[in-house]
Amino acid sequence: MTGIAEEVAALTFRTRAFIDGAFVDAASGRTYRVENPANGRTLAEVAECDAEDVDRAVAAAKRAAESGVWSGMAPGDRKRLLVRFADLIDEHVGELALIESLDVGKPISDTRALDIPDTAACIRWHAEAIDKLYDQVAPTGPGAVAMVVREPIGVVGAIVPWNYPAQMAAWKLGPALATGNCVVIKPAQVTSLSLLRIAELAAEAGLPAGVLNVVTGPGSVVGTAIARHPDVGAVAFTGSTEVGRTVLAHSAESNLKRVMLELGGKSPQIVMADAANLDRVAERVSAAIFWNMGENCSAGSRLLVDRRVKDDLLARLVHVTGSTWLVGDPLDEATRVGPLVTRVHMERVLGYIEAGTREGARAVTGGGRVLEETGGYFVAPTIFDDATNDMRIAQEEIFGPVLTVVAFDGEDEAIRLANDTDYGLAASIYTENVRTAHRMARAVHAGTVGVNCYSEGDLTTPFGGFKLSGFGGHDKSVHAHDQYMELKTIWIDMAD
Ligand code: NAP
Ligand code: MG
Repeated sequence: MTGIAEEVAALTFRTRAFIDGAFVDAASGRTYRVENPANGRTLAEVAECDAEDVDRAVAAAKRAAESGVWSGMAPGDRKRLLVRFADLIDEHVGELALIESLDVGKPISDTRALDIPDTAACIRWHAEAIDKLYDQVAPTGPGAVAMVVREPIGVVGAIVPWNYPAQMAAWKLGPALATGNCVVIKPAQVTSLSLLRIAELAAEAGLPAGVLNVVTGPGSVVGTAIARHPDVGAVAFTGSTEVGRTVLAHSAESNLKRVMLELGGKSPQIVMADAANLDRVAERVSAAIFWNMGENCSAGSRLLVDRRVKDDLLARLVHVTGSTWLVGDPLDEATRVGPLVTRVHMERVLGYIEAGTREGARAVTGGGRVLEETGGYFVAPTIFDDATNDMRIAQEEIFGPVLTVVAFDGEDEAIRLANDTDYGLAASIYTENVRTAHRMARAVHAGTVGVNCYSEGDLTTPFGGFKLSGFGGHDKSVHAHDQYMELKTIWIDMAD
């Protein structure tokens, strides 16, 4: 660990808001403390912005938008700058991965291999698409030429959560910037550090001042100010359903800005009796819930399993949980499960574990806090057997390493249970029968359905939720572009 200890000692955090191309203090001068969830120690003091800072950032973004310095650039030129931005993120993968692990508690093996490389890949993917997309000419007949063109909205607001700080930011920044918008983005208060460094890299890549602004601070203040701002034309939000509703209400009460919401989930993993290779199923089911400590909107947090194979699968699942999902210091490369993001969040998850036991489910592995002596917020990967779908642990999003197991008898009951939730983000179906797979993939109400795997797809596929899991748009793929663009008709009379 000496190597990584030296890397940590050499880190300097960017802790001020990034507005109009420069780091600035909050107008009020206030700061807040952020900590390392692996030991509860202070990492940094970050600028605690408020509505005045949001005003400054939006004004800078509006100036940049109106000047045409970004939107007026040829798509190929914008692409070159964004690809350079992505390259710089890749070149700083070690530093950014370390920041993300220290700030969020994510295993360093994940942040190095996934979070940061995926952040760069997302920016690059959207950048590379933009000089290959065409607008349309409508089939009007000879009396007119009608062009259907897309234009950037102007100033886009983005509000992102703490579970994948860099990557969720990239899911918004990639398509919003590529389509020519200027952005004011708010990271979650507890995890602002990676995005501040990333904004600096954007400037280094040559993005003009005002094109990308980062305003740090509490959601109730900074997030509200973005969502209510009259000069913000659209807001892209990822977070809880509860806060998503308030963002939508703020839009309705202010300037009717466009709103895109990516929200929570309670995603089912359905294992049919004919599923092949239960060892592999157990590996995939465990990854779907324990990856990123279960702090994942599309976590497969409900295992629905045919009663005939339940005990067999569960035994393998308990084994793979113990052998693979090792809890420990996020900076140790062997660690697969780090601490939860904050003490408050850990207590919330522990509260659900208590509720599960109270309601009559039975923890067959895990079931509480571990490594308390470190001062960190670690919770053991936990599996509840003997649950029913009406229990709180089967209905509410826990956002932690807790899997709820519900047995079913037959396909109809499996579908009924899968859809008996307010959410509809993701689902998995394990079966060897191609007909069953097709039938069930259509019947489950979810934005992404994985067959014989746990999958969110990749950058080429849209990601969004049904029901209370989403509203108004999608992240990733070219489908993400339209939401950051206005559609305009230009009708040219050709008659003399
Ligand atoms: P959250 O509490 O809803 O916060 C999300 C963001 O909204 C944070 O930046 C937060 O700021 C801000 N915020 C809080 N109150 C606000 C308000 N009144 N107005 C405007 N913004 C406000 O969610 P979280 O606890 O960070 O993240 C977990 C949730 O995100 C889960 O429900 C999860 O499922 C969901 N999620 C969904 C996806 C997806 O793609 N569907 C991906 C990841 C996570 P502060 O935290 O700084 O106060
Ligand atoms: Mg932190």
